[in-house]
Amino acid sequence: VSAIDLTRATLDNISKTDDQLKAFISTNADDALAQAQKIDEKADFSNVVTGIPLALKDNMATKGIQTTGASHILEGFKPIYNATVVEKLQNAGAISVGKANMDEFAMGGSTETSYYKQTTNAWDHSKVPGGSSGGSAAAVAGGQVPFALGSDTGGSIRQPAAFNGIVGLKPTYGRVSRWGLFAMASSLDQIGPFTRTVKDNAVVLNAISGFDQKDSTSSQREVPDFTAKLSGDVKGLKIAVPKEYFGDGIDAKVAARVKAAIAQLEALGATVDEVSLPHTKYGVAAYYIIMSSEASSNLQRYDGVRYGFRANDVKNLEDLYVKTRSEGFGDEVKRRIMLGTFSLSAGAYDAFFKKAAKIRTLLIEDFNKVFENYDLIVGPTAPTPAYGLGEEIDDPTAMYLADVLTIPVNLAGLPGLSVNAGFVDGLPVGLQIIGKPFDEQTVYQAGYAYE
Ligand code: GLN
Repeated sequence: VSAIDLTRATLDNISKTDDQLKAFISTNADDALAQAQKIDEKADFSNVVTGIPLALKDNMATKGIQTTGASHILEGFKPIYNATVVEKLQNAGAISVGKANMDEFAMGGSTETSYYKQTTNAWDHSKVPGGSSGGSAAAVAGGQVPFALGSDTGGSIRQPAAFNGIVGLKPTYGRVSRWGLFAMASSLDQIGPFTRTVKDNAVVLNAISGFDQKDSTSSQREVPDFTAKLSGDVKGLKIAVPKEYFGDGIDAKVAARVKAAIAQLEALGATVDEVSLPHTKYGVAAYYIIMSSEASSNLQRYDGVRYGFRANDVKNLEDLYVKTRSEGFGDEVKRRIMLGTFSLSAGAYDAFFKKAAKIRTLLIEDFNKVFENYDLIVGPTAPTPAYGLGEEIDDPTAMYLADVLTIPVNLAGLPGLSVNAGFVDGLPVGLQIIGKPFDEQTVYQAGYAYE
């Protein structure tokens, strides 16, 4: 097939299926078809992603194409530049067909905080797709695109990958440039791929990784070929299973499914031992202080002057800020701005932010200790399968606790993969594979052998 035929078929299929899935905030047919035509004219398909359609989470800047972060405050905003990942994929010849739905500014775990629409789970349209990258995950699982990019600050790639039965990777912090990604919590955010197979995932990571002068936190390390260890063999790999990842709050059926998956890795020749990550239970609390603090500062730029939406009938400059932000941000975003501003205030800093930073160090030390003796850490991705639309959205604390198994990985900057570990009552369950910093190759090795 030609790139133009494939792109046209992809867009047609999206227009047929998206009434139900609601994975896209917008599609960009003209732009995508123009790009496809150029690719066909050039006829150089030496890069495997050339001519392949994809979806981008709507918090990645696309030049001349509306990018909203699923927020009302950015309605109509068209960036004047491309995010580095967008540029890299474009240079490789991949074709972005649209911007995927998400929780507003990536704050949430069900894609229900989006201002625009409610994405549904690809396996059961009465269930949430997970989040915050729910649109990207549903688009891949629903067969709309072969791959998509998401961002993961506390689990937002791995959890929706688990809820939709696909493969999602949060790379090591620094592996992929964050330039042009709308900052949520800058010390935690990473961009990564959603795909249907582990091999596809590694191929996409090859295309988006590497040092970028425009992101001072991107790593100078050489980028290896992430497909190099996909032999199907895991003999001799040392795998650690933290007992805390099967503790209170983990659904018994999910635990059983994931244990069966781990037994399969063992049958393939890996050695498996139980270990302890004793500070796991403090991760969520520390994350909500650190993430909110960073987010409250990052979101100051949305002032009604520079981008997107601006409130009407304002009396003066302060009124413009207050009215724009009051009308432009949703409840979850406001909740976090208030929590973050409070945690950073002079009277509260020592009691909250500083304590959270100390917990972060303890969590990192927990991981370091285990990685002295093991290659990988495995467990469930999320404590439960996908829940019903509307079921948890009014209970923020319950939603926050759902990220207990993914958050520590962001706090420590490690790579984490979610692969499908089968189904519980008809809904997919994720196996999470966590690696040493910059060792995505071994993470993929185990995921590939398991899959
Ligand atoms: N669900 C988590 C939160 O609401 C993680 C979000 C994310 O990774 N972007 O903060």
